[in-house]
Amino acid sequence: MDKLDIEVLSGKLDAELIKKDFPVLSNSVNNAPLVYLDSGASAQMPQSVIDRINHYHQYEHANIHRGVYELSEQATISYESVRSTVARFLNVTDTAEVIFTKGTTHAINLVAHAFGRTFVRAGDEIVISHMEHHSNIVPWQQLCEEVGATLKIIPISDIGELDLEEYRRLLSDRTKIVAVTHVSNVLGTINPIKEMVALAHAKDIPVLVDGAQGAPHMKVDLQELDCDFYIFSGHKVCGPTGIGILYGKRDWLERMNPYEGGGDMILSVTFEKTTYAEIPAKFEAGTPPIASAIGLGEAIKYLESIGLENIENHEKVLTQYATEALSDISGLTVYGTAPQKAGVISFGVKGVHPHDMGTLLSDDGVAVRAGHHCAQPVMQRYKVPATTRASFYLYNTLDDIDKLVDSVRSAKKIFS
Ligand SMILES: *Cc1c(COP(=O)(O)O)cnc(C)c1O
Repeated sequence: MDKLDIEVLSGKLDAELIKKDFPVLSNSVNNAPLVYLDSGASAQMPQSVIDRINHYHQYEHANIHRGVYELSEQATISYESVRSTVARFLNVTDTAEVIFTKGTTHAINLVAHAFGRTFVRAGDEIVISHMEHHSNIVPWQQLCEEVGATLKIIPISDIGELDLEEYRRLLSDRTKIVAVTHVSNVLGTINPIKEMVALAHAKDIPVLVDGAQGAPHMKVDLQELDCDFYIFSGHKVCGPTGIGILYGKRDWLERMNPYEGGGDMILSVTFEKTTYAEIPAKFEAGTPPIASAIGLGEAIKYLESIGLENIENHEKVLTQYATEALSDISGLTVYGTAPQKAGVISFGVKGVHPHDMGTLLSDDGVAVRAGHHCAQPVMQRYKVPATTRASFYLYNTLDDIDKLVDSVRSAKKIFS
């Protein structure tokens, strides 16, 4: 692909301009300009999000849902309005179906406990895939151990696609829930969620989607996907840490027992009996991360102002460009080459340990991830201890990719 083609393809998104919205991206590392290629782990925050959080702390902070004074009412309005922003972002209409959590991990644990303790019994099965992040494995494994249920695993092919035939076979009368990632954080594979949900629903099985790598990078339409739970983290959509979203269908949320008990999630408490609040409060015990929720709302507005379709297209171009350039390097293997793929490239270079690669790239200011990416079963599947991973976002440019490729080439020379 030459650069002219790419400019035409990239079209509506000017990454050079967008980069200027992110103060951290104009910093230098090791005397080299920062090339940030680890948005899969955490995205950077634009100035508007930082400003919104500061404004909250400076002028609006008070605890929510309890005060009758002006400041608390203002904080409550700001916090609650983010629920509508998230509902719009996911294209759902009932804001009570939007639950604030601490992040993806917390949200999956919430469902594993609240759904699990209510509906999963000895002899039941839970279906997950071989490409899950540890946070969509361990909570289910813990639940299975606790109640005597079994975890069933959808296998992945050599190029990194789920085996849908095997998935079909795994769905049975014993299956209580399917929990699957929207996009693999290692392989980049975009899973056919709509089709997978339809197959599960044909057997009345609910589906939870780990959207930690989905929501940041593409337009998510939950009315179209029709999954029962959809989860993502604030810090991967250019928002702050400490906040995440659990979307759940009202019917399930109402039938599930609460996860954590405490303030704000009750209707009445006596020593004999507690009655619980309606959703969403039922699942939001204690003082929530108010500032982070408000920051998340601002981050979503920022992404919407750029356009999720534009972001998705831009990342496709970056991924294709980077894949072609990296594949020219002899001895380099890309793990995960599914046709439906998001802006994540995991690779290995013969003779260079991924951690050494990560360190040498860092010397050039290039920030990538090296390790197992919290997905050890994926490493086991491809028989590697670790990979180096570059992940892209709306603020990455072709120039960033050129620097990555140059830096990989010089790292390789050091070891040959
Ligand atoms: C990052 C990530 C998680 C965990 O998110 P946290 O914000 O660390 O809780 C889960 N699943 C996937 C696919 C991820 O990329």
